[in-house]
Amino acid sequence: MESVAAALARLQLLATGPEISLLAQRFADAGHEFALVGGPVRDAFLGRVVSDLDFTTDATPDQILAIVAPVADAHWDIGREFGTIGARLGEETVEITTYRSDSYDGATRKPVVEFGSRLEDDLTRRDFTINAMALRLPECVLVDPAGGVEDLLAGVLRTPGAPQVSFGDDPLRMMRAARFTAQLGFRLDDAALAAAVELAPSIDIVSRERVSDELRKLLLAPEAGRGIRVLVDSGIAERVLPEVPALRLEIDEHARHKDVYEHSLTALDRAIVLERERGHPPTLVLRLAVLLHDIGKPETRKIEPDGSVTFHHHDVLGAKLAARRLRELRFDNDTVKAVAELIRLHLRFFGYSEGRWSDSAVRRYVRDAGDLLEWLHILSRADVTTRNQRKSGALAAAYDDLEARIAALAEEEELAAIRPDLDGEQIMAILGLKPGREVGDAYRFLMELRLDEGSLGYDIARSRLLEWWAARG
Ligand code: ATP
Ligand code: MG
Repeated sequence: MESVAAALARLQLLATGPEISLLAQRFADAGHEFALVGGPVRDAFLGRVVSDLDFTTDATPDQILAIVAPVADAHWDIGREFGTIGARLGEETVEITTYRSDSYDGATRKPVVEFGSRLEDDLTRRDFTINAMALRLPECVLVDPAGGVEDLLAGVLRTPGAPQVSFGDDPLRMMRAARFTAQLGFRLDDAALAAAVELAPSIDIVSRERVSDELRKLLLAPEAGRGIRVLVDSGIAERVLPEVPALRLEIDEHARHKDVYEHSLTALDRAIVLERERGHPPTLVLRLAVLLHDIGKPETRKIEPDGSVTFHHHDVLGAKLAARRLRELRFDNDTVKAVAELIRLHLRFFGYSEGRWSDSAVRRYVRDAGDLLEWLHILSRADVTTRNQRKSGALAAAYDDLEARIAALAEEEELAAIRPDLDGEQIMAILGLKPGREVGDAYRFLMELRLDEGSLGYDIARSRLLEWWAARG
């Protein structure tokens, strides 16, 4: 974050566009408070792209509607019982929520919704101090009762009140914490982490859908691995994704194999770099596959008579375990299938460096990967995390070679499929020929033409053929 002053100036700019100014004035004229709040304030401070504009007010939902409806292009109820009204004004989409002061029954994560009358109270019931800031409008005064600016500067996630109470009220906040560490690169404050360790089991009362939605946001974040570490360190992963903490196999006394958990997180970091370098947006299927690619290892681990460690068929078992877990987390069927398939295929490349594959083996690799080929390329490359430079260099070169051969074969096959613009029948009809050597010559002429100039269409091909025929005499 640059200076607080610069961040405030940016916030002010955001909040003083014509549509927002109009809204702010209408709330003021009606004798109500109105403030930009939460995510957009935080993101403007961080210089991140601000997507949705959330506002809060002391007006009740009906009063909000009366103020907004006359000037909105569209408006809708997001949940009137939760006090939220959505509206569109020109280019701006806004959500306006009545101040709340929730209390929780402790058993479900459903708050007993109570509307409040003070902005400060609405802010301190929020999840993290960096999300508990508001900009009062139209005055443009920052309200930060929990010290959010300080925490933004320090890069730390802290709850406004005692974390045990906050996470106890709503255990989803623990997953939100992990997600924000991944999105913002922040760390979770020690007291909050300790509270999460204590309260991790209560994540069970949160619906699978909400859990997987947070997991999805976490995995798509720039520092997904950081978020996964928070889930594992707090014990939440044990409840929602137990296969990942299980990767922390005890390292045997000879340190024969590296820690599979650290390997998986390193692979995830590498995959995120490759994904960007190769021009892709954050891709869930890829990131899930990389995170989970070795989850078959703990169960297939075997010490051989010669003392070596093997994990036979961990690819097949891993695919099965991943499908089961992702289904349980209510990920959609296409995602589940794609992730499982990538895990099943993730070892195929390692045969390549040992002996060059035949063309047909390369074609089979491409066919088996199908639509997932690009993700399989990235997964296979990211899976090489050895610190031995000679080894990793050799494997990267082998994969370059494999990709080059795939490209060459594809090109050959495309070339093999190229036909001239006119076929034998048409050549014979145009030139009045019977089958014979001259038809073959004409066909080869047209094929050269096709390769040199691309497809020309029937009419041009016909006149070029007649020219060629006349010049031949
Ligand atoms: P993003 O929209 O980028 O995911 P956000 O911070 O806007 O991030 P939302 O889920 O849109 O998050 O929530 C809007 C605001 O509501 C948050 O900034 C926070 O102040 C508050 N909030 C959301 N969920 C909770 C929760 N479970 N407990 C307490 N406050 C919450
Ligand atoms: Mg939001």
